[in-house]
Amino acid sequence: MENILDYEYVELKNKFEAEKMEPYRTAQIFDWIYKKHATSFSVMTNLSKQLRERISMKFVVNMPELVKKTSSSDGTVKFLWKYSDGNTVESVILRYPDRLTGCISSQVGCPLNCAFCATGMSGYVRNLTSGEILSQILGMEISESEKINNVVFMGMGEPMLNYDEVIRAIHVITDPKAFKISQRRVSISTAGIVDGILKLSKEPLDVILSISLHAPTDDKRSTIMPINKRYNLNDLIEAINIYQKVKDRRVTFEYILFDKFNDSLDDAQKLVTLLKGIKCNVNLIRYNDTGSAFKKTPMDRAEIFEKFLKDNGIESVIRAEKGADIAAACGQLRRQTL
Ligand code: SAH
Repeated sequence: MENILDYEYVELKNKFEAEKMEPYRTAQIFDWIYKKHATSFSVMTNLSKQLRERISMKFVVNMPELVKKTSSSDGTVKFLWKYSDGNTVESVILRYPDRLTGCISSQVGCPLNCAFCATGMSGYVRNLTSGEILSQILGMEISESEKINNVVFMGMGEPMLNYDEVIRAIHVITDPKAFKISQRRVSISTAGIVDGILKLSKEPLDVILSISLHAPTDDKRSTIMPINKRYNLNDLIEAINIYQKVKDRRVTFEYILFDKFNDSLDDAQKLVTLLKGIKCNVNLIRYNDTGSAFKKTPMDRAEIFEKFLKDNGIESVIRAEKGADIAAACGQLRRQTL
């Protein structure tokens, strides 16, 4: 049985043609699944019974099992999904005044081992297929009876290490016949996989590139993010400059403030120097304590850091904490259930 969610529109259409089924049925099926949230072919009543049976012999809408759902008082909802092979991943819904964001996972676990991240602590298992990525969005929309209109690849895993499946998923996320989310409302967040950034610069896509920076020098960054030993800041900034030249779009930097590690004015100055000439926003993130050696920077120091960046011409914002009461930080829920 094949997971129909693994197919992009054109691929499914071609498949139907090859199987001597009417290709225009693809649009109806996409409509049923992605707009009407049908997860069984039997309810697709504008297809003949015979066709539904034929499709059911070849395909399934492979939805993961919802193992756990936790809702926060601030509207954040965290989901733990289990795929048919028993592996689990997390997704989160974040509520903002102007959008409903789905934060999704691209891998089971993560190979990057960032010192502060709960996902890394549980090791790496495997990549997700595009259908498994999409089923998280579908599952959240069904569970909440709401439409997600913003997607961030900031759940478990490193999207750039599962590049092809992530791009395939983005095609369906942004397809007007499927989820129809605008490309500028999709963010790929990376710990700095230079090859992936360069590849993305050649993609005919207009998504938001978000870089998890978290430190302004190679010394500090390598301490908390081992990937920095493979792609150092010089390589990373060079790749971002190339990306920006091609796309002419603002890049987002994520910077978790760790108490007395990367939150001094000296760090802020080094960050300003590092980002000179790059059109960017810096998201300052309050660290969500996951039991690592790091602590959260106090709010007053975070504000001083933010002000320094702003005074030096860098757009910067302290990201509002969400879901702190439900362990919504990357990898936390899964770890609790392992
Ligand atoms: N691997 C990708 C995407 C997943 S992580 C990346 O590194 O960007 C999404 C974001 O959450 C990253 O910026 C990551 O550094 C951050 N993050 C991980 N654990 C965190 C924690 N405990 N508190 C705050 N942010 C965290």
